[in-house]
Amino acid sequence: QLPRTTEVIPGRVRVVVRLRPRNAQEMMADADFADSVELQPELKRLKLRKNNWELDTYEFDDMLTEYVSQKRVYEVVAKPVSVLDGYNGMVMAYGQTGTGKTFTLGQVGEGDTSDRGIMVHSMEGVLADISPETDSISVSYLQLYKETLQDLLDPANDNIPIVEDPRTGDVSVPGATIVEIKSQQSFLELLRCGEAHRVAANTKLNTEYENGDPTHLTKPFKPLVDLAGSERIQKSGCIHSLAENRTHVPFRDSKLTRLLKDSFGGETTSTILFGQRAMKVENILKIKEEFDYKSLS
Ligand code: ADP
Ligand code: MG
Repeated sequence: QLPRTTEVIPGRVRVVVRLRPRNAQEMMADADFADSVELQPELKRLKLRKNNWELDTYEFDDMLTEYVSQKRVYEVVAKPVSVLDGYNGMVMAYGQTGTGKTFTLGQVGEGDTSDRGIMVHSMEGVLADISPETDSISVSYLQLYKETLQDLLDPANDNIPIVEDPRTGDVSVPGATIVEIKSQQSFLELLRCGEAHRVAANTKLNTEYENGDPTHLTKPFKPLVDLAGSERIQKSGCIHSLAENRTHVPFRDSKLTRLLKDSFGGETTSTILFGQRAMKVENILKIKEEFDYKSLS
């Protein structure tokens, strides 16, 4: 079993749990907090309680309580996954519908900039490190829905193939729009444009990659993946296969698996899987189960 660490290590999957605040409905349903998830951030432990009965304690790589700001979430989860260090990296939000995946990743923060999610903060971070006169960040915004890959920046383009070069193994998505981003303003416009076209429960890939041959996901490739609710995808098993870093992935026809094949494994410096709170204790257990370190050797 690998040692537990919050460090970003090549080939390792780091799992961070974020707890979102309870909404009014949840407060009503469980006013006495009999079923609860308690985080002990300093110990990186999560405690589960059901009917006031303490079930179990788990360790994750990091813990983000409901009081942690969006900015801090970015700093813990995505900032260490630099796109400029030459390695691939990935941030993926995993969890049941309603647990805050889209809020955490994709919130544009129109009225309240403190609501801005990982995508906006990541771009801000990268832009601060490049010189806009000479450099730019290539961005695509894709949606994988029912095994169909659609360009959110050009929704009519809804049958994008995923092509793998048999010689190099490089994956490409020919025909996907690639926008060269040099300013935060143009990135926000791109996000707004993409948002308008997305399906409610979906899998989104906001891919950043630099110096692109437009058809290739050239390195460094950094997808920010907003998965569909885990209740929809758990049966596919493909996330499990990816996390297990299997060379033989049984669901090779899954487009998600094919797109992200280089986002897990040895050459990827920093892959983060971002489990999140679900009100139901069972869902935390499922995340733990799927990404248990024992399966990551
Ligand atoms: P998911 O994408 O996992 O289905 P959402 O991101 O859509 O979930 O979140 C569900 C609801 O909870 C939304 O109304 C969202 O604004 C709210 N929400 C999620 N996370 C937070 C948070 N950390 N703070 C405040 N509201 C949140
Ligand atoms: Mg969502």
